[in-house]
Amino acid sequence: MSEHSESFIEKSTVKTADRDHRRKINFNIGRYNAVVPKGKEQFSNVNLAREKAKNIKWKAIENLDKMLESFEAKITKRGAKVIWAEDAQQALDEIGKICAEKKCKTLVKSKSMVTEEIHLNKFLEEKGIESIETDLGEYIQQLDGEPPYHIVTPAMHKSKEDVAKLFADKLGTDPKLTPEQLTQVARNVLRKKYAEAEVGITGANFIIADIGGIAITENEGNARLSCSIPKTHIVVASIEKVIPSMNDLALFWPLLATYGTGQKITVYSTIINGPRQEGETDGPDEMYVILLDNGRTNILANEKTRESLYCIRCGACLNACPVYKNIGGHSYETTYSGPIGSVITPHLKEMKEWKHLSYASSLCGNCTEVCAVKINLHELLLENRHEAVDEGDTSFVERTGWKLWKKAMLKRNLMNMGSRKIKNWVVNTLLKGWKEHRSKMEFPKKSFNQMWKEKYGNR
Ligand code: SF4
Repeated sequence: MSEHSESFIEKSTVKTADRDHRRKINFNIGRYNAVVPKGKEQFSNVNLAREKAKNIKWKAIENLDKMLESFEAKITKRGAKVIWAEDAQQALDEIGKICAEKKCKTLVKSKSMVTEEIHLNKFLEEKGIESIETDLGEYIQQLDGEPPYHIVTPAMHKSKEDVAKLFADKLGTDPKLTPEQLTQVARNVLRKKYAEAEVGITGANFIIADIGGIAITENEGNARLSCSIPKTHIVVASIEKVIPSMNDLALFWPLLATYGTGQKITVYSTIINGPRQEGETDGPDEMYVILLDNGRTNILANEKTRESLYCIRCGACLNACPVYKNIGGHSYETTYSGPIGSVITPHLKEMKEWKHLSYASSLCGNCTEVCAVKINLHELLLENRHEAVDEGDTSFVERTGWKLWKKAMLKRNLMNMGSRKIKNWVVNTLLKGWKEHRSKMEFPKKSFNQMWKEKYGNR
């Protein structure tokens, strides 16, 4: 068992028994479930919209090289600089270089999972740069020294009382502040930081190939401030975020808003296609776009799992997953949690170390059912299991167990061997891991074979 697998089981076991955690998650996911159907009403045929979005992403991913080159050519013409980073270290080195050049002491950051993936904040901290999260949920998590809990709602596991207590501990505020007052406190702290920061970093919800732009959607206006007030704007975007045309946003923006938060459209939707141009009053002097691979081309090369690159990070599959709802986001110990995280992490990192996530699923298919772009998530979890077995990432006990099982299943007389008592003892002794988290397996008094014979004889 890998180190990560052991720690995953340990953390999941604790969280599953934590009723307070479950109460908070159920409350927040309950609110999400109540608003999503309203958001869906804006589509005359929501399934058709999802199908169309999937086809557009298929086109984008099948032509990824051309799409990214088109993006680069267009945005470069308007003065932005595009940097290609193969892995996290290359991206960090480039950001480090830009920050050093700009003598950056303070940096404002809007919510971006890809910067979590490359552990940007830790890197900046080691360089002596203060990096401030400006999304309220991310700011709460940063104050608490925790990574995001969910890809859309980073502090989903905290109640308003938890946040009031955290602010009181860290910022010395009254522990009885209301959510509105807490937001005001964060606002006052953050506003000053935008003005101080030499550099602003954002992610990109979409990379638009035809016009050479990036699209950002957010509800707080913090991303707009992060990319327009500091003199330098750095975008860190993973390469699969590409869509062919600006026209596609007419579909993707409402789809992302509805499946992400149940809104018809997110409050601030912005397209940026370069730094401030001559004659313009707003915007940074310089803009850099870092296009990050970090394992995506491994997924691209794999025809079966390529589909996972269509993901628009709406978070719907996390909210629908019975496993996620019980074990919570932090048990995964990955940047991307829930079903989509379990699908992509073994490919972004290492199958041997992370295959356990693909087994932590009941394969109920709820994730596939709710996915905004109709990714066959549960099939991909199965595919990961196949790949892990094909690569030989299995233990001796597992291999022997399945061999014996196959032998027994193919021979009726072997299946009929032994009494019910012996069978119960064998399975419950051999499959100790199963028993730890589930009730004991009990063979029925009569096997199906016996019942059939009694009813129909030897037909
Ligand atoms: S896999 Fe689908 S449901 Fe899950 S985050 Fe991505 S787009 Fe949303």
